Amino acid sequence: MVSSRISENFVYIPENDTHMVTMSGARTYTAVLERLRRVGLRPTRQRLALAKLLFSGEDRHVTAEALHKEALANQICVSLATVYNTLHQFTDAGILREVVVDAARSYFDTNTRHHHHFYREDDQKLVDIPDDHVVLKKLPSPPAGTSISQVDIVVRIHPTST
Ligand SMILES: [Zn+2]
Repeated sequence: MVSSRISENFVYIPENDTHMVTMSGARTYTAVLERLRRVGLRPTRQRLALAKLLFSGEDRHVTAEALHKEALANQICVSLATVYNTLHQFTDAGILREVVVDAARSYFDTNTRHHHHFYREDDQKLVDIPDDHVVLKKLPSPPAGTSISQVDIVVRIHPTST
């Protein structure tokens, strides 16, 4: 039995023996590695490091800029362009969902199940709305030759003055 120790900064890619990793940080690493492999993304060092930041905790909504800052704070040296490209690759692979709030602001959501969002205008945060909390009574007919693939609702909210 080969034992392996994986530090935060050392990326080791086991081929088949991922079950032998037992440390908690390494468990996250293994889960993230599996997740990338499952969707056919080559687990490069940068993808792994960013995926670990994204998928280690609870579901979250991040902008490319916020994730870039977080990466730098964790000694992950990546450019904003790389973060941006990686987020889009993860989105194309189906492990992230992009939520466009306006032309200048896109969020990436680790919860890929269908749901809607509140957008808090005061602090620019997204809050999940479960899919079944929104009931659509009437939708326009889509243009000829098209069909509706999905309806995403962003409800903008701001604090009420007391
Ligand atoms: Zn969400």
